[in-house]
Amino acid sequence: MKDPVCGMSGVEKSAVATMEWEGVQYGFCSQHCYNVFSKQPEKYARKDKEHSTHHKHDDHAHGHKGCC
Ligand SMILES: [Zn+2]
Repeated sequence: MKDPVCGMSGVEKSAVATMEWEGVQYGFCSQHCYNVFSKQPEKYARKDKEHSTHHKHDDHAHGHKGCC
């Protein structure tokens, strides 16, 4: 689990707060990060999604090689 606000990973061990948003569970390293996310969950959750989509796209580009 990753803190979407500050980007700290492994927060499930030391999470001060957790929140489920759009079916995804998020953990927060501090009350501050939780407050920031709860004010604008879209902003931070979307940022996280864009990041993972980028990785998937890279994988796809490699697999696509040789097809055409
Ligand atoms: Zn944090």
